[in-house]
Amino acid sequence: MITVTWRDLVGSDYGPGMDQPVDLTHLRAPAICTMCRTMGVLLTRGVALGGPSPDQPSQFYGKGAVTAHNVGAAIDIFYHRDNDAKRAFANALVELFIRYRASVGWGWMAYNRVEFNQRGVGVPDDPHLNHIHVDWVDGQKTVRSRTLGSFTYNDGLGLKTKTVGSYGQDIAMTTNPAADRAAPGDFAAAYEALCSGWSAETAKRYQGYTTSNFDAAYAGLAAGSDLSWLLGWWEVWDGNYYYYYFDHGGRVVYIETKPRSAATPAPAAPHNKGSYTFNASGALVISWNALPGLAATIETFYNAKSGALLMNATSNQYSPLVATRLR
Ligand SMILES: [Zn+2]
Repeated sequence: MITVTWRDLVGSDYGPGMDQPVDLTHLRAPAICTMCRTMGVLLTRGVALGGPSPDQPSQFYGKGAVTAHNVGAAIDIFYHRDNDAKRAFANALVELFIRYRASVGWGWMAYNRVEFNQRGVGVPDDPHLNHIHVDWVDGQKTVRSRTLGSFTYNDGLGLKTKTVGSYGQDIAMTTNPAADRAAPGDFAAAYEALCSGWSAETAKRYQGYTTSNFDAAYAGLAAGSDLSWLLGWWEVWDGNYYYYYFDHGGRVVYIETKPRSAATPAPAAPHNKGSYTFNASGALVISWNALPGLAATIETFYNAKSGALLMNATSNQYSPLVATRLR
């Protein structure tokens, strides 16, 4: 967790009459959160896989005020909305961030006159026409002064004045818990699939995206079409511990040694493999491959649902199971 306050930036608490310049040269390299750092690395892989190249490399931090960037918890991804092909890819990327918002854990996002928060879309103060802004800030912990209408700062080239309007100026900002995690494997897989499958046809589909398309992406998650809540590791107990790893392709494997963290990739040598599907009543059904001397085991997680952190199952061979999301 990283907190940056106005005091960190200017060396004193801000006062309404403050007209001192804010020199942020000492912020040339603020601490960048783990999520931003690893997300930045992930996003540079897209071009080699077939995704359109950004207009400039991603930026992690800015200058001038207490912002998500100066907490080291934001990335700007540059795809200008005036270019059809770049806008198409940016829209696809935004949709991906919406679909995986549970596992990626971003706090706020904006692109092309639309803002994206945890619940849906809105209108941002800054239109964000040439880049997607994604951040991992805890909005609940942002302290804002409503009495400061504008402030003066030094951006390294000279004095600048920024008007912050009626919403005031942020004077303290803190990263959210997801900022301390690495970019998740399920999002990475989906991003790489998007890039490697990118075509003129896909671009055409995403080119004309509007807010209603993004509304649909939010709704899709609520309807359970997105499996980010399930993908990755679960700790399963039936008297012994097992560690299940669910992937995108309907495959599940298990090992008996606890993975180092939720970010650990799929095991190379699992104890057994199986497949999973959802039956008509919404239960998650795993079919494990038969092993020598053992019939195929079927486990039915009857209370599996989007956002679940715990699931219970019956087995056609063994005792009931309890699965807990590995965090
Ligand atoms: Zn930004």
